[in-house]
Amino acid sequence: MTTTASEIVDMPQIAAQWTRIRARLQAEVGEVEYRTWLRQMTLAGMEGDEVTVNLPTRFLRDWVSTRYGDRLRALWQSENIDVRRVEISVGQAPVPAPLSASPAAAPITRVEVVRPASPAPAPPQQTLSTTPAPTPAPANGWNDERIEPKSDLAAPLDPRFTFEGFVVGKPNEFAYACARRVAERPSSPGFNPLFLYGGVGLGKTHLMHAIAWELTDRTTAPVSVAYMSAEKFMYRFIAAIRSQSTMEFKENLRSVDVLMIDDLQFLIGKDNTQEEFFHTFNYLVEQGKQIVVSADKSPSDLNGLEHRLRTRLGCGMVADLHSTTYELRISILEAKAARAGVDVPFKVLEFLAHKITSNVRELEGALNRLVAHANLFGRPVTLETTHEVLHDILKAHDRRVTIEEIQKKVAEHYSIRLTDMSSARRARAVARPRQVAMYLAKQLTSRSLPEIGRKFGNRNHTTVMHAVSRVTELMDRDGTFAEDVELLRRLLES
Ligand code: ADP
Ligand code: MG
Repeated sequence: MTTTASEIVDMPQIAAQWTRIRARLQAEVGEVEYRTWLRQMTLAGMEGDEVTVNLPTRFLRDWVSTRYGDRLRALWQSENIDVRRVEISVGQAPVPAPLSASPAAAPITRVEVVRPASPAPAPPQQTLSTTPAPTPAPANGWNDERIEPKSDLAAPLDPRFTFEGFVVGKPNEFAYACARRVAERPSSPGFNPLFLYGGVGLGKTHLMHAIAWELTDRTTAPVSVAYMSAEKFMYRFIAAIRSQSTMEFKENLRSVDVLMIDDLQFLIGKDNTQEEFFHTFNYLVEQGKQIVVSADKSPSDLNGLEHRLRTRLGCGMVADLHSTTYELRISILEAKAARAGVDVPFKVLEFLAHKITSNVRELEGALNRLVAHANLFGRPVTLETTHEVLHDILKAHDRRVTIEEIQKKVAEHYSIRLTDMSSARRARAVARPRQVAMYLAKQLTSRSLPEIGRKFGNRNHTTVMHAVSRVTELMDRDGTFAEDVELLRRLLES
């Protein structure tokens, strides 16, 4: 059966699956990256076991195909067991059926449109299949091809994820050193298994790929490495059960020298897969093979993972990747900008490192967007273009200020004691700064008046209301005072 773009509206199930896939992608890659590269994806249709996804330009198609092709396929497979292939092509968004008869209804801003909106389902002209492996497609010169897996088991390795491409700083130096050590001498006592953990986007996958690259690339005694996400592990396992080839699956897995499983937390609640992994794990360790695992938490915190598995995972080396520091973020940005070959002023790097503190993926996503913008329009990167191009991201990253921070800053500024923020003292020298702090709490946080009152020595919400109007009034009348408050606000927001 063939489903065309215009019929998607009649396929609520597929449309719902697509919606979920997009949501998951968005959660995985982060807001910045999603907006930049993935938001314009549209579902074009499903034919047999193949789903076609459209993007409006070749540039986007190449980019998405090389970077997210595998992920898209895995997500589709997890949603819909019938899907085996995902085509990513250049084409326009499906136009809802009632409009599709009129060519004038087609959006005119699209750069390239190769697939007619409707009604005849023409084969997509420019497609890159993500199966068996994405075709190398240099997108913008610094995101190059993915390498075909060496064994059928392994997922492709990202060519950018090498040790050389990893910027080392205080928060990640221990994890980096452990990864290096395993890459040099796999299966050393004390380092098996290697368990890497940390929050999203801090470099776990990067380090795992780096180990795999190092091991598969070395000229003397190359070893076989299987790297895959826990999710992929599970799908492989389920597929093997379905096709009654679990023996083959097990043998394949057990024949590798190094097994790497990324994002192990995915196996929480998947008891059968956990069990299978546990046996494979034990078998390989007994054979003196190296295991590398990553997760978002330490083994002891992975509640929901079988106790015996957690115990075994914690037996080797456990290394965590801490949140980045400002210094590390600057170094990473410098390295990535240099690699992109685009001149990014230091001021812009400082600005980004201050603003985007959540994780490296987001930081990289913001820089990628700046670089892509500079390349596309041939404009140099400046603080102004940065504000312009990253407007939406920066807004989302505006720092959430806490009432405690406000109280502290304001108390410092007016040289009063922090305890006076909640004391009963009414002297003007204390009461006025307290009012300013309440005013700023109202302006900069989403707390309600009663909540703010509670934080200021259990004061009534009418006291807060009064403070807000009093400060507003004073700011109107007294320029110096207004400047003072504005300065405090800027300090707190930066
Ligand atoms: P995780 O697997 O921990 O969620 P990734 O390894 O996928 O994170 O890292 C997210 C992105 O940030 C990748 O593009 C990676 O290259 C980059 N990255 C993270 N840490 C570093 C670092 N220390 N140096 C260079 N790039 C980094
Ligand atoms: Mg990862």
